[in-house]
Amino acid sequence: MKQKKQNALTVLLGYAGSHRRLTVLGLGLSAVSMVCSMIPYLCIWLAARDLIAVAPDWTQARSVTDYGWIAFAFAVGGILIYFLGLMCTHLAAFRTAANIRKQGMAHVMQAPLGYFDANASGLIRSRLDAAAADTETLLAHNLADIVGTVTLFIAMLVLMFVFDWRMGAACLLAAVISILAMCSMMGGKNAALMAEYQAAQDRMTKSGTEYVRGIPVVKIFQQTVYSFKAFQQAIEDYSAKAEHYQGDVCRVPQSINLTFTEGAFLFLVPVVLFLAPGALASGNFAGFVTNFAFYAVFSAIISTALAKIMFAASGMMLAGTALGRIQPVMDAPTLAVPEHPQTPKDNRVVFRDVSFTYDGAQSPALSHVSFTAEPGETVALVGPSGGGKTTAASLIPRFWDADTGTVEVGGVDVRQIDPHVLMDQVAFVFQNNRLFKASILENVRAARPDASREQVLAALEAAQCGDILEKLPQGLDTVIGTEGTYLSGGEAQRIALARAILKDAPIVVLDEATAFADPENEALIQKAFARLTKDRTVIMIAHRLSTVVGADKILVLEGGRVTEQGTHEELIAAGGLYTRMWADYNRAIQWKMESG
Ligand code: ADP
Ligand code: MG
Repeated sequence: MKQKKQNALTVLLGYAGSHRRLTVLGLGLSAVSMVCSMIPYLCIWLAARDLIAVAPDWTQARSVTDYGWIAFAFAVGGILIYFLGLMCTHLAAFRTAANIRKQGMAHVMQAPLGYFDANASGLIRSRLDAAAADTETLLAHNLADIVGTVTLFIAMLVLMFVFDWRMGAACLLAAVISILAMCSMMGGKNAALMAEYQAAQDRMTKSGTEYVRGIPVVKIFQQTVYSFKAFQQAIEDYSAKAEHYQGDVCRVPQSINLTFTEGAFLFLVPVVLFLAPGALASGNFAGFVTNFAFYAVFSAIISTALAKIMFAASGMMLAGTALGRIQPVMDAPTLAVPEHPQTPKDNRVVFRDVSFTYDGAQSPALSHVSFTAEPGETVALVGPSGGGKTTAASLIPRFWDADTGTVEVGGVDVRQIDPHVLMDQVAFVFQNNRLFKASILENVRAARPDASREQVLAALEAAQCGDILEKLPQGLDTVIGTEGTYLSGGEAQRIALARAILKDAPIVVLDEATAFADPENEALIQKAFARLTKDRTVIMIAHRLSTVVGADKILVLEGGRVTEQGTHEELIAAGGLYTRMWADYNRAIQWKMESG
């Protein structure tokens, strides 16, 4: 527990970087301002003491106005210093939060692309946002409050001991009880509850992202039930955890702790009164009265200070967990960049005995996969869902790196190719293609930022998107996803194909690119395909077997292994899984034609 907290603080200082000095300066100023703000109260006490000493001859009490001026000076000084301190801590906080976002993003940019699958990206953002925001509050307010209040507390205690050690001892005792009660409230079970609460929040963000991303699928296949249920479940789980967390803080034994935190100082009243007879007996009337006055001041200050500390401590806890939660983001694996990059000689793609297991998975997603796609060949990957098709395709542009074996492009291990060069070699059309909320022009141009309008138009033409452009109000400049400009799955697919065509890469990877096609779109998509894949090395994943019949080579992937390999005719002749899939596929087509 303690170890963890310390780590969070070191981590925090790490993010503060060069702004560490500014942070410390801000905290120091806030401590000084607290001491300054105590002086006016001290002046009251000193004035009272002086008055009692000269009573009843008030004419000698000129010093009272002097105390007034001193109090005034320190009040003004204290406020100015406090303001300066706040400026420093705010500036440092703002810059540290910016550092967290920058470092997080910079790190994540070096992670393998597979790290950004649909599930992770929303989560990464929400975690970085939370860490940045919580840290900002912590540095701007909470830490300064804690440092200032603790300084004030210690100064008051010292003064108490100087005036009357018994009062000092009583205050110290009350402070210790109060702090212990506060610590037990913040630590242990509550920290665990808070972690659970934040984990539930994560799950909600994640399934919310999934749900929103899944809307195109929902539209076409009416698969509302599953994703919505998962989302709803996550919301309910989150609400339950939140209520549990809130509820537990308010119930026993938390309420007992709270009572002790605030009530410990009440016991100073009897201490003051018990000490009175002794003071009076020894003729120290002045001592008694001034102690009493000091106590009144002390308790007033302490109650606001305690409230501030409690508030600040919960801020510390929040920031601590938030920083802990971005650790996995900061620890994300980074893609090893070759020291002496080599240039691929052509667009041949070779898998040599490739095996790959996802982090934390029980069984490998690919085991001992070998095949060659000669330049200009089309290799189709087919097989049951979960067979490893997408995983195999993902290894070509290094979305992940193989555990053993090698993936080669143009005779060079992909790990020895400059990542930018490699990305230029491969056009990837995703299973669920991703269009940005931007104009069609910008969406297509994402593949090649320097492309002219004419080139973009030509690519759209080649991808059979003419009809889409015609019906959109601003043509090429229409922003997708705004009112009246939603695209159907098949239309979005063709835009994604245009993007791949514009990229003009020698290797094309198509992952179930026909999955979204509706019947009237399919012919157009096939045409767009033909344009995209002409004279290129193509790795095509398809569950519509009609699209793979003409492939130069078909690989059947089952449980991560290549179980069959050959042309359509060879596989049909072999009579294995492919033959059964082909028969099923034809039955389905037959059924569709008969039923309508
Ligand atoms: P296919 O594309 O043939 O349907 P995949 O390559 O997507 O199959 O999946 C192969 C196996 O790897 C499956 O068991 C799947 O559950 C698992 N898998 C896929 N993606 C991930 C991932 N990002 N993390 C962990 N496991 C994954
Ligand atoms: Mg897949």
